[in-house]
Amino acid sequence: MFEGLSDRLSGILSGLTRRGALTEADVTAAMREVRRALLEADVALEVVRGFTDRVREKAVGAVVLKSVTPGQMVVKIVNDELVAMLGTDAETVDLNAPAPVPILMVGLQGSGKTTTTAKIARRLTERERRKVLLASLDTRRPAAMEQLAVLAKQVGVESLPIVAGQSAVQIAKRAMDAARLGGFDVVMLDTAGRTTVDEALMAEAAEVKAATRPHEVLLVADALTGQDAVNTARAFDERLGVTGIVLTRMDGDSRGGAALSMRAVTGKPIKLVGVGEKVDALEEFHPARVANRILG
Ligand code: GDP
Repeated sequence: MFEGLSDRLSGILSGLTRRGALTEADVTAAMREVRRALLEADVALEVVRGFTDRVREKAVGAVVLKSVTPGQMVVKIVNDELVAMLGTDAETVDLNAPAPVPILMVGLQGSGKTTTTAKIARRLTERERRKVLLASLDTRRPAAMEQLAVLAKQVGVESLPIVAGQSAVQIAKRAMDAARLGGFDVVMLDTAGRTTVDEALMAEAAEVKAATRPHEVLLVADALTGQDAVNTARAFDERLGVTGIVLTRMDGDSRGGAALSMRAVTGKPIKLVGVGEKVDALEEFHPARVANRILG
């Protein structure tokens, strides 16, 4: 069973209760445990390094308050830094643009992209009373197009009629035209996914982006991917200019390290989290909660 960081630190720093300030040696010992805890939570190695460096700087020489133990003090510094790095509380999908506002959904196949598209559409419809049109651009997988149409029905929004033989860009343009004609507020474009980041996938999504100028490019990523999360996030962001991240499968065993990794590497906000297969299983992102989860 996982031992939380607080317990570990109070163990190794227990001899220091009477000293005033944390020394270099105390902090070095503590950082070993912090590093271990973050790696166990699946935070990417490169992100762990930067993080422990920053915490070390803040911790060395910090005066331990009378009311707390040195272990609690370090945990507080770690926790505060984690929360700060994870970003702002309760981010939202930005619709502040002329209607119809295009939103491009990108991510690897199986990340939960199509489900998340429907979840967000439902949220925008029910909470913000927006009229949303969904369109699948996954021309190679008719089943994926069908899946989006089924989900659209389920959440009570319209989906663009499927026309065989059109390219992703053609479908995207047709969706924008249909949205203008039909008085839609938002158009969500569900791009094709692949099992790995590949050039064809990126080129197609980039072409769709150029043709539709989306207001948001939301990267859907699986929280369980752990160490791979950074590479995925970096690749999508560099090529497509991601504006926000939706982390799925946060209902699973993940300790949430992917949230920190993706945020640190891209600097882009985590806007929402998926917490189940059902269409209402979508929540706001709360840095403090995820920090707790990472620290165990
Ligand atoms: P896509 O290939 O990226 O479009 O992925 P799908 O939307 O088809 O989702 C793949 C699977 O993951 C489906 O079985 C979804 O129900 C499931 N899924 C999506 N989001 C979540 C989530 O937040 N939690 C859980 N447990 N399952 C999810």
